[in-house]
Amino acid sequence: MNVLIVDALASGKGKRLVTRDAIGAGPRSVAGIFEKKGINVNIMEVEKVLGKSFNKDFYDLLLVSGMSGDLTAVRKTIKKVYGKTVIIGGPITSEPINSLKNTGADIAVIGEGEETLLDLLTLDLNNIESLPLEKLESIKGLSFLNKNKKIVFNGLRPVMQRKTYNTFKPSIKTIKNYSIFYAARVYLEVLRGCSNYYRANIEQNEACSLCNKCREGKLIDRFYCPQNKLPGCGYCSVPSLFGPPKSRTVDNIIEEAKGLLELGVNRIVLSAPCILDYGRDLLVEPEPLTDPRFPEPNYEELEKLFSKLFDLSKVKEGAASIMIENIKASLITDRSATLLGQYFKNTPISIGFETGSKEHSKLLGRPSNPSETLNAIKKLKNTGIKPYVYFIHGLPGQTRKTALETVNSINESIRNGAERIILYRFHTLPMSEFCNYPNGLPYVKDKNSKIIHEAAIKANRLKKDDLIGKKVNVVIAERYDKNPLYYVSYPLKHGPVVLVEGKNGLENNVINVEITRKASDRMVYGRF
Ligand code: SF4
Ligand code: SF4
Repeated sequence: MNVLIVDALASGKGKRLVTRDAIGAGPRSVAGIFEKKGINVNIMEVEKVLGKSFNKDFYDLLLVSGMSGDLTAVRKTIKKVYGKTVIIGGPITSEPINSLKNTGADIAVIGEGEETLLDLLTLDLNNIESLPLEKLESIKGLSFLNKNKKIVFNGLRPVMQRKTYNTFKPSIKTIKNYSIFYAARVYLEVLRGCSNYYRANIEQNEACSLCNKCREGKLIDRFYCPQNKLPGCGYCSVPSLFGPPKSRTVDNIIEEAKGLLELGVNRIVLSAPCILDYGRDLLVEPEPLTDPRFPEPNYEELEKLFSKLFDLSKVKEGAASIMIENIKASLITDRSATLLGQYFKNTPISIGFETGSKEHSKLLGRPSNPSETLNAIKKLKNTGIKPYVYFIHGLPGQTRKTALETVNSINESIRNGAERIILYRFHTLPMSEFCNYPNGLPYVKDKNSKIIHEAAIKANRLKKDDLIGKKVNVVIAERYDKNPLYYVSYPLKHGPVVLVEGKNGLENNVINVEITRKASDRMVYGRF
């Protein structure tokens, strides 16, 4: 059997623009399952599948991975491979019924896919028409079309245990299936799930009995809410879909990182909803890690992981970089900030702020309040890290007062050392506590969102000029399609796209450039 995994993540209508240099961890995790079974598997970027030279006849089974915003790309892909069995997965399937209805796929895998796929592989997937439907009905974690042409969702699987999770190994060799893998940020999953089991209580009504179990109960008690409110920040579905954190072993991570670097990867991002949750699960096992504050980070395990990664020869020589992704302010202590600074100096870290109001923050179910987050920004900045601070406008519960407090927090974040402010509009996510709320209005249509937007733009305008004259190491990716005199290049430690002029054959080189001027909001010019 020949299997193709189509990576449509962040491709929207079928073409990645600003996210072209990011390669998510999901498709390689899925490829690893087929490799383990000895099945021939490849990954292809959606742009290639939708291109003229793609030949579907070579493949017996297709899996398409996408997010909710990639609906058009996923639909186009499925139309193009008409006649083949198609399984969809990734965040797009957190609406189990609609994802099938809207894309035309045969099967949707929801949440953690590894065990569900293993179950599916016991069936003959070459021919969906002849599949025994009663067998599909018995597999948890998927939705499919039954014999009455009705879409059935079998319910989620219980969250995977850490030991089982560690038996799965993502594919390494399929990284070469990506066109600019040598310059891209390659995400390597180090842990799955989130420890924030607080609940949002935005309506402050009887849906919450104020028992406070989710904030002060025993770890196991926090897992279940007597009122069935979903865990985590109200706008997020990570705890509902993936449960409390479970860490991969240091050995598994190092093996994968080593393999990727040897194949030519130059930029690795340790993917985790919060890197400081890494190894904390080991401190409370067999209890689930459902507290975003206590115990403190597992410093020993983090140190073990970071020291081994930074000891890999390519990283030690400065030819490749290791980056981290997200962090919760509730886990920033003096010790964790120092530890991060020791390894990730000059590297950006994303820190969620979302609202500047203390009260709003609590009602949203956030793990930390605004003053803690400001403190965390300052601590990280003092250790040499570049905090990228995230806010959301249009959230349920946003008022004039919360908007003004948010504007204030944006300004304070910059004063405390934020490198960049990243503002999102609230989009409702299936399987989050706010799944039934409407999306936030565009900022032009909401005067409260507008002041938040203006504050963020102003803050970033001030910061971008800071880059001019700085020298950074970049990886040369490919010719810039809008002006082939230039190359598109990416800073080794993340930052805006740098356009550099140069002769042919520079792809896959790491070069030091000086930033000369701004090209746009997302790009700058540089020279060797
Ligand atoms: S959200 Fe649930 S667990 Fe938390 S206080 Fe309310 S009823 Fe209790
Ligand atoms: S936003 Fe972050 S802290 Fe909140 S539930 Fe999601 S992953 Fe956890």
